[in-house]
Amino acid sequence: MATDIFETFESQVRSYCMNWPAVFEKASGSYQYTEDGSRYLDFFSGAGALNYGHNHPELRDLLVDYVANDGVTHSLDMKTPSKRRFLETFERVILEPRNMEYKVMFPGPTGTNSVEAALKLARKVTGRQHILSFTNAFHGMTLGSLSVTGNSMKRRGAGIPLTNSSKIPYDDYFDGNIPDFIWLEKVLQDSGSGVDKPAAVIVETVQGEGGLNAARMEWLKELSALLRRHKILLIIDDVQAGCGRTGTFFSFEEAGITPDIICMSKSISGYGLPMAITLFKPELDVWEGGEHNGTFRGNNLGFITGARALELFWSDDSFQKQLAAKIETLREGLEDIAQHVKGATLRGRGFLTGICFPDADTAGKVAAESYKRNLLLETSGPEDEVIKVMPPLTIEDDDLQKGIKVIEDAGLAATG
Ligand code: PMP
Repeated sequence: MATDIFETFESQVRSYCMNWPAVFEKASGSYQYTEDGSRYLDFFSGAGALNYGHNHPELRDLLVDYVANDGVTHSLDMKTPSKRRFLETFERVILEPRNMEYKVMFPGPTGTNSVEAALKLARKVTGRQHILSFTNAFHGMTLGSLSVTGNSMKRRGAGIPLTNSSKIPYDDYFDGNIPDFIWLEKVLQDSGSGVDKPAAVIVETVQGEGGLNAARMEWLKELSALLRRHKILLIIDDVQAGCGRTGTFFSFEEAGITPDIICMSKSISGYGLPMAITLFKPELDVWEGGEHNGTFRGNNLGFITGARALELFWSDDSFQKQLAAKIETLREGLEDIAQHVKGATLRGRGFLTGICFPDADTAGKVAAESYKRNLLLETSGPEDEVIKVMPPLTIEDDDLQKGIKVIEDAGLAATG
């Protein structure tokens, strides 16, 4: 019966639904279980919202305990012990060891809320309106975040002109043929170029939805230096690439840059709960109280699990070291698979990686064949030509190997 309702739902109500026909009922660690008891290995991880896997036992117990003891769930901007705990832990475990000085705000429940807050703040601070973003960028589906998103199908969905933003080429857009930023510097300096001086540039270090293009650290460094020279703010959208997805807590750490504003969401609660934060340098704190608000800012349940997740995984470097070894395993496995399909290439960085196939049809078939073999993975890219491989960061080694083998078999089945 339940399946019938979902069929009606899909055809009449939803604008988007995963192609997976199963109804998922339970989840634990790296696995999801359907109503009829089938088990699926999860290389999708809630598009990056489940970096620490499903229902991590310690986080689950904390949550159950909190609710059982009548902990405050909804609190708007009120002070709560769980909010204090999250802020104190974020400061101690994440910001201080990295010598990062940022204010933390809770912009609303999702990634797009974090991006909207970042864009608004950048405009208010600089008094300028124009924002630059990149080809194939994805920053969210509300009007501000959509205006800096590259995908034209998604942009058309706005139904009105999306203004005050322009797209510029992401790293390696020209296959290494154009010097990185000489052209941008010239355009910014040239009063006759017609390009309004932007308030900010917003960038993903790996384009999660846009096809797993990964920026080089050198490119990020150059971008950051150029923006500093021109007093343009740098916003890093770490909604998908952050919280360890690329191997370090922030995805830009290896570049040694200091963004002005950082957007985070997805795995920040540690448990797949709706929560987002926007970090900004203290000198950018120009908002009046109430100037940017909303009903669901912060999430007390997310504060509880998020704070503990930071302590569990990021208070020393042991988790990061284990993750580095797993990233290497995945990279080698996917590289090997890519070598066996004509025209296929490895994409991405860390556990935000995948294979670009010559066409969407092949990528779709690989995803479908993977599903037949009880592995969940998504496709990405402007034409959906890339399979996106995002295991939980906590995956056991043998499950990782198992998943890689499934992708290899699925690749063989799909490409014949
Ligand atoms: N920025 C990036 C980089 C994203 O990947 C996403 C979601 N895929 C968003 C913003 C928007 O997040 P949300 O869907 O939670 O609004």
